[in-house]
Amino acid sequence: MTSTQTESSTALRPGAVTIAIWLAAGIAIAGVAALLLSHTPARQRLIGILAAAQGAACGWLVSLVGTRLKMRSPVAAIVGGVVVGAASVALTSVLWWQAHARQLKADYKPPKGAAMAMAMLNQATDPSDPQAKKEMDDFRADLKARAMPPDTSFPEYLAFRVSSFSNSRSAGQILFGAELLLAGLLCAGFARARAARPFCESCGEWILPIRRHEFTGDDANEIAVLTGSDHQTPFVSASVVLSQCRCAGRRPEVLVVLESADRKAAVRRSSTDQDSPLKLAEEAFSELAARIDAAQGLR
Ligand SMILES: [Zn+2]
Repeated sequence: MTSTQTESSTALRPGAVTIAIWLAAGIAIAGVAALLLSHTPARQRLIGILAAAQGAACGWLVSLVGTRLKMRSPVAAIVGGVVVGAASVALTSVLWWQAHARQLKADYKPPKGAAMAMAMLNQATDPSDPQAKKEMDDFRADLKARAMPPDTSFPEYLAFRVSSFSNSRSAGQILFGAELLLAGLLCAGFARARAARPFCESCGEWILPIRRHEFTGDDANEIAVLTGSDHQTPFVSASVVLSQCRCAGRRPEVLVVLESADRKAAVRRSSTDQDSPLKLAEEAFSELAARIDAAQGLR
C-alpha cells in the first residue's frame, strides 16, 4: 500500500465514524426526550404543538453534539435529523398509548349477568316479525359490545386522541403521521443548519462569528461600496459578520447581507461562497473591520 492510499483511507474514516457516533448520540437524545415527555400531563399533550417542540428540542441537542463532534455532513444531518425527531415523537406516543391501554383495562368491569343474558338470547328462537327480529339483533349487538373488553389497539388510541374534534379513525392516523413529519423536519432543520456551517480543514475547527454589526442608512451604502457590491437602488441596511477559525494569522471570513427599502434587492456576499466568493483587498478589509469596531465602540 502506498502512502497516498494510507492517507486517503485514514482521511475517510473520521467522517463515517463521526456520523455513526453522532447518530448514536441522536438516538440516545431521542429516547431520553421521549421518556421525559411521556410524563406530560394529559391536558398538555397538545396535538402538533408538543410534537413540534419535541422535534425542535431534539434538533437543537443533536446540533450541539454535532458541533462538538465536528459532524459536518449536511446530508447525514438531514437524514439523521428526520429519524431522530420522528423516532422521539413516535416513542412518546407509544408510551402514552401503553399507559392509556393499561388504564382502560384496569377500569373495565364486565356487566353482571351479561354473559348469562347473552347465552339466553342466543338460545331464544328469533321472532318471525322482521321489526321484532331487528330489535332483537340490535339488542344482541349492544349487549355484546358492552360485555366486550375495551379496544386497546394503537389505531383506537390515535382515534381517542382526536375524539374531541373528530369521530374519524383515519383522522387520528393522519394527524399522527403529520406530527412525525413535523418533528422530523424541524429536527433535521436544526441539525442541517449546524452541519452546513463553514469549516476550516487546516486547523480542524468551525469558522465561527467573532463580530457582527448591522449598518443602516448612509453607512449601509458605504459598506456596499466598500465591499464592491452592485447597487442601483440604495440599501437601507447592511449586516456584516466576520468569522474566524483557529488558524494563526488568517484573516476572518466576511459575510455581507445588503437590503434595499423594498426588500426586493437583497444582496448576499460571502468570502466562503464556493461559486463567487467575496474577495476584499487588504485595505478594504481593514476599513471594514475598523468600521465595525468603531460602530460597536471598540475603537
Ligand atoms: Zn483554520
